[in-house]
Amino acid sequence: MKVIEHIDKSSNPLFSFEIVPPPRGRTIEAVIEVVNTLQPYNPSWVDVTAHPAGAYYNEKNDGSIERKIYKKRPGTIGICGVIQNRFRIDTVTHLLTQGFTKEETEDALIELNYLGIHNVLALRGDGLNYNKQYDKVKHRNHYAIDLVDQINDVKKGIYLDEINQSIPMDFCVGVAGYPEKHFEAPNLKLDIQRLKNKVDAGSDYIVTQMFFDNQKYFDFVKSCREADITCPIVPGIKVIKNLKQFRSVPSHFYVDFPDEFVEEAHENPDHVEEIGVRWAIKQGEELLNANVPSLHFYVMNDAKSVSQVVKKLF
Ligand code: FAD
Repeated sequence: MKVIEHIDKSSNPLFSFEIVPPPRGRTIEAVIEVVNTLQPYNPSWVDVTAHPAGAYYNEKNDGSIERKIYKKRPGTIGICGVIQNRFRIDTVTHLLTQGFTKEETEDALIELNYLGIHNVLALRGDGLNYNKQYDKVKHRNHYAIDLVDQINDVKKGIYLDEINQSIPMDFCVGVAGYPEKHFEAPNLKLDIQRLKNKVDAGSDYIVTQMFFDNQKYFDFVKSCREADITCPIVPGIKVIKNLKQFRSVPSHFYVDFPDEFVEEAHENPDHVEEIGVRWAIKQGEELLNANVPSLHFYVMNDAKSVSQVVKKLF
């Protein structure tokens, strides 16, 4: 089932979660373990993140440095297929513009269609640490909106090359929104205008970047509605587990922590996990009381804290 159908049809509060594929060379067991832990609470869908190839450097025996380009976390589509077919939970495949040609994106959409996966989150991705060679034959999308346009084309049966008897493919398309503004946007107003362009191009729903102060989400939704963005806006929640994250989360995701949360965690360094769970439950309760369409948890690869939160909320 599509994400938008889950949201439209449900009269109960919903939740979804997001995981990352394992690093190259590992088994899929850790991912299965996360899904096993959260499955009893009936998630409506699971997102699997996408990762482009990057440049990695190894020192060889002779002291020289070897540069290799590879994907550290391949397997997004395969993992979606496993979860959807083994657990019967709908999956959302993340697709990126950065690091992928339009041809690779079209191939990915064809694979998803064969697997019966009809949900994608269209994203740009963040700067690559090497320059992939593109030429006149291999094209790439730039912003997420370009990806939404390409997906829209295949929904109408329009492929990159003219193909006889090409079939239309059916996808529900989500895009990302930033209650505290995307870090590159000059201001929130323009960022929301660009978000509206993504929605008008054919996106069905928005998932937000994580936030720790619900007021930021409520203000963002209000501004989106004033800008005529009418689709569901699913709030993203991250459960904090250790003090280190109070530094790493703002530097990676450009979001703030409320004073009260920071103070409580720093005054009780041995109880940060418990404080993080309590904070997320408080956030979740307030959001559910405000009738949000669903809660989206950034689980990544450890479901323990999130399971304590969803156990309380659902
Ligand atoms: P866009 O919508 O393209 O916007 C990027 C920036 O460009 C914004 O500042 C926007 O205002 C600006 N912009 C848009 N259109 C224009 C225009 N026409 N002219 C000038 N500026 C413009 N990253 C991954 O690598 N893999 C993942 O799986 C992944 N999953 C994510 C899931 C969620 C829910 C979220 C919120 C983020 C995720 N990200 C992921 C991170 C995301 O790739 C980054 O935040 C990225 O920097 C922006 O992606 P976007 O799709 O929002 O980009």
